Amino acid sequence: MNYQTDVCIIGAGPGGALLAYLLAKQNISTILIERSDKLGKEFRGEHLNEDGEKILKKHHIFEEIESLGLLRMSRVEYWKDGHIFKTIESELGHAGIHVPQQHLLQSITNKAGHCSHYKLLLGTKVTELIKNAHGHYIGIKAIQKDGKDITIQSKLIIGADGRHSAVRKLAHIKNEIRHHGYDLLWAKIPAPEKWKPTIRFTVVNNQQMALFTQTGGFIQIGWNIKKGSYTSLKKQSVQPFLDQLILAFPQLKESIEQTLSSWKDFILLSVYSSHCDTWVKNGLAIIGDAAHTMTPTGAYGMNASIMDADVLSQILPKLLSQGSLEAGKLKVFEDARRKIVEDLQAQQVVTEDSFMEKFTNSLKIEKENLPLFRIQ
Ligand SMILES: Cc1cc2nc3c(=O)[nH]c(=O)nc-3n(C[C@H](O)[C@H](O)[C@H](O)COP(=O)(O)OP(=O)(O)OC[C@H]3O[C@@H](n4cnc5c(N)ncnc54)[C@H](O)[C@@H]3O)c2cc1C
Repeated sequence: MNYQTDVCIIGAGPGGALLAYLLAKQNISTILIERSDKLGKEFRGEHLNEDGEKILKKHHIFEEIESLGLLRMSRVEYWKDGHIFKTIESELGHAGIHVPQQHLLQSITNKAGHCSHYKLLLGTKVTELIKNAHGHYIGIKAIQKDGKDITIQSKLIIGADGRHSAVRKLAHIKNEIRHHGYDLLWAKIPAPEKWKPTIRFTVVNNQQMALFTQTGGFIQIGWNIKKGSYTSLKKQSVQPFLDQLILAFPQLKESIEQTLSSWKDFILLSVYSSHCDTWVKNGLAIIGDAAHTMTPTGAYGMNASIMDADVLSQILPKLLSQGSLEAGKLKVFEDARRKIVEDLQAQQVVTEDSFMEKFTNSLKIEKENLPLFRIQ
């Protein structure tokens, strides 16, 4: 099967899905391909900050998500030895919003589905990039779940295919990885009755642990472990690990005992951030995690992908109408976003390095790092 389009976007995560909608809405023919046969895999970043919120509101997507379900965090709390010792409340009225991926992606793709210039191909995995004789990218080859090969000719290819981006590899874009000394174990448990929608931090075993309240009555546990230690950890009994979790948050005893009993109940996230030497080539750009993977600290990753999509959707219509899709022209996008993203990545390192200080010398939280938050 052969397709022809203006823009072919690979990856229907938050960045790719939003960009596809924003382009199709401007009558730019857009094909979005996604290797999974359903949208919104679990355990992707789900906390929206004020930047992501603003963009989703600007494009009238937020209210659709709200009708499917989201949850505003009332505050951030710091806990020690099973007791709360500091809370931070936001002057925005919330300290982040939990948005289930399913709700986010469904809302965006529902809206996009009303645009006549939009096509979504699920169960479709990119396998090859096509170049013309001048080395300009002019399309992709992909394989579908039923084994059929397809070709999509396009004026522009967008790699929005996440941290392990195939587009980035196929376009030979150099990607430098930085390890941050820790990996993360994730688990999801039911929230006890009357559990407030909060983000809670504590220290267990000299490592950060965070609890994120989720829509629908759940808590997502994020537990930092030493980088690369999971293989040996897994060989030990999980019980002492669970006992420490209960000690840190005694209110969760019943929920933990009912839900967690083996390492299989946790999901490992290998934590790193990345930096590409370029985000653009002739006829191609990469966005979101494909261009700049971030660590989970501060929950910036999904929000950064959403911002990339918003910025690029404003730049592309003019470039497409002028037929100017060389790297030099697409660079305007990279110039608009790279410094902002790299500053956030630097901020993540500062936050990670200073986390333990909050639990010693009577909580040193710098107010200027949290301009919209009131510390109590
Ligand atoms: C456990 C965890 C918690 C996080 N918490 C937060 C948070 O609270 N807030 C926040 O802002 N960020 C968070 N992040 C980061 C956030 O999830 C990512 O930054 C965000 O999902 C990146 O969006 P994206 O659209 O760039 O890529 P992704 O969400 O990774 O989407 C890429 C898409 O491309 C598809 N794809 C991949 N390869 C191919 C291929 N070859 N062909 C076709 N399709 C392909 C994938 O299936 C996927 O759907 C977290 C990340 C993790 C792993």
